[in-house]
Amino acid sequence: MFVVEEGRELCPVCRFEWAACSPEEVSPRVRAATDAMLAVISADPAGSRVRVEADRWSSVEYGAHLRDVLWLIRDRLVNTVVEDTPSPPKLHRDERVALGLYEGDTAQSLARQLPVAAESFATFFDALHLEHHARTVIYSADFGHVRTLAWTGAQAVHECEHHLDDVRENAQRVGR
Ligand SMILES: [Zn+2]
Repeated sequence: MFVVEEGRELCPVCRFEWAACSPEEVSPRVRAATDAMLAVISADPAGSRVRVEADRWSSVEYGAHLRDVLWLIRDRLVNTVVEDTPSPPKLHRDERVALGLYEGDTAQSLARQLPVAAESFATFFDALHLEHHARTVIYSADFGHVRTLAWTGAQAVHECEHHLDDVRENAQRVGR
């Protein structure tokens, strides 16, 4: 989802601006945000599994979501370079939770998996060539469908930083 203010596309929640995130910033920001998220989750493994509201994900669920987002976007990079404006597989974010697919996730399992997801995404993204950045993909209806690969990299950063805010908020509310 995004809002347009004075011609700038912004996340209505965290104010992330996709156009302001250059491809060179993608990998460092993905690494930094996932490290920070993991620090929050690892600081309170039991609290990280608590839902502070029935319909708000726990920090472990946010972490598991982010791990899967990074794997999925990583594969979308290949689809986008090889195919012309492909429609890669969807994440089905809520269904993954509803199906119980994150029930086996813990602070400990995320400590192993999230850095691998971030690192493998980051090295893949950095291996792309400059001319690939303008390739297009059907991203999702939430984002007006067609987006570039450079935008997709920025969206990976957005997912990391947006959900870092979510787990920070959870940690504050669990501690109350
Ligand atoms: Zn956001």
